[in-house]
Amino acid sequence: MRLENNQKKRRTKWWVALGATVTILAGASLGALSAYNWSPEETIEGLFGTSIQQSFTQKNHEERNIDEDVKEITRTESNEETEEPSAPEDGADDSQTAYPDEPERTPETMEEPIYIKGVLIANKQYPLPTDYAPGEDPEARAAYDEMQAAAAEAGQSLVAFSTFRSYEYQTELYNRYVEQHGQEEADRFSARPGYSEHQTGLGFDIGAEDQEEHWASDSFKDTKEAKWLAENAHQFGFILRYPAGKEHITGYQYESWHFRYLGEELATEIYNSGLTLEEYLGI
Ligand SMILES: [Zn+2]
Repeated sequence: MRLENNQKKRRTKWWVALGATVTILAGASLGALSAYNWSPEETIEGLFGTSIQQSFTQKNHEERNIDEDVKEITRTESNEETEEPSAPEDGADDSQTAYPDEPERTPETMEEPIYIKGVLIANKQYPLPTDYAPGEDPEARAAYDEMQAAAAEAGQSLVAFSTFRSYEYQTELYNRYVEQHGQEEADRFSARPGYSEHQTGLGFDIGAEDQEEHWASDSFKDTKEAKWLAENAHQFGFILRYPAGKEHITGYQYESWHFRYLGEELATEIYNSGLTLEEYLGI
């Protein structure tokens, strides 16, 4: 009897323990589900919403790197709405590359563009006259065509999707970006009218043919065309104008697609120096 009783007690204890464990586990599961305000739809959203949002955010980040462009095809209205302006990545003091609060010169007061050491300059410190409209530079176009042909022989298919842009066109673009992103953010990827290198006719935005999704997008840097350009453009007179990690010097985020024509000799010299145009010119 005693033995049976003991066995019963042990069995009872075992069942109690099992019951308690099941109850605790069930409670924990319900707790976890209720944390997601569980319902079939919401659980899906709760579990995957974060990653979906992250991928949108990533996409937005890439697409925000559009420079002064054009390529509305890489931007969609729905993505625009979810975008949050981000703080400067490196926390660098960009006072040297921001627009001056009290500028010495403005597009409205400029009569002629400024040349430094023989180089036509357009950046946040050196604007162009509002009526400066030379069109696409023919020498730069000829050099580009030569580069495109050489790239084709190497199996790369290049397209110059944006070259000369007028003051008026830049005004439209910039105003639209300010409306969408706010001025501070827009200033990191889009030039104000009168400050764009595209207005010189010497700035070329280059992409890969039939890969519009990468045009004027951060994702272009990973294409074989971008790698080919980074290594070879100087031989045809072009430099990568806004390199990675130089935003505090150039005033613009890394733009793997934006090239500036300088002629073969100077472009090669700057390429070999590893400097940006601003550093090379000492401005
Ligand atoms: Zn550009």
